[in-house]
Amino acid sequence: MNYPLTVKICETGRHIYSKGLSPGKSGNISVRSKDTVAITPSGVSLGYLNMGEIVFVDMEGKIVAGGAKPSSELQLHLDVYQKRDDVKGIVHTHSPYATGFARAGERIERVEGFREGKNPFLKMVDYAPPGTDELATSAGNGLLEEDVVILKNHGIVATGKNLFEATLLAEFVEDTAKTQFISRVLGNIEI
Ligand code: 13P
Ligand code: ZN
Repeated sequence: MNYPLTVKICETGRHIYSKGLSPGKSGNISVRSKDTVAITPSGVSLGYLNMGEIVFVDMEGKIVAGGAKPSSELQLHLDVYQKRDDVKGIVHTHSPYATGFARAGERIERVEGFREGKNPFLKMVDYAPPGTDELATSAGNGLLEEDVVILKNHGIVATGKNLFEATLLAEFVEDTAKTQFISRVLGNIEI
């Protein structure tokens, strides 16, 4: 078993949970190393992960090591890794502001700091139920030319060349949504 990967995933889980980005048992994290993906187990709080719970799978999703049941979004993570060779870390969160935008169908602005793109807003993919192949495919397609996608009515998926970069991006999406929300509210108040 690759202990450094499990340590990294557990530390990231505690970090994003303590920042309020993955409330309750929401969200999942994975890292790719060559043709192995290490992913968080299903139905646990990311803030209280144990190293022994991290599941190792091959690129087809077959479990090769680790104890618990893999995240219900395993196929989504695999779809992204299969389509994007440069992606080595993925963070899926239900962070409150970004998810609020996703639920309201409101788009988040592509401010400076995000990857450049023609669309002035971050890409939002159509709703599909969590854990389905349909969601995996639409998120994977959405991430072909983006580093982050908003999952309509659900949350976000942030990717990076490593787990640290994916984590920073997930934080930045949440901060951007929060700032946008605050500026809209204040912008509508007449003093
Ligand atoms: P898992 O606990 O199965 O990873 O599910 C959490 C989640 O956010 C599903 O979209
Ligand atoms: Zn989710």
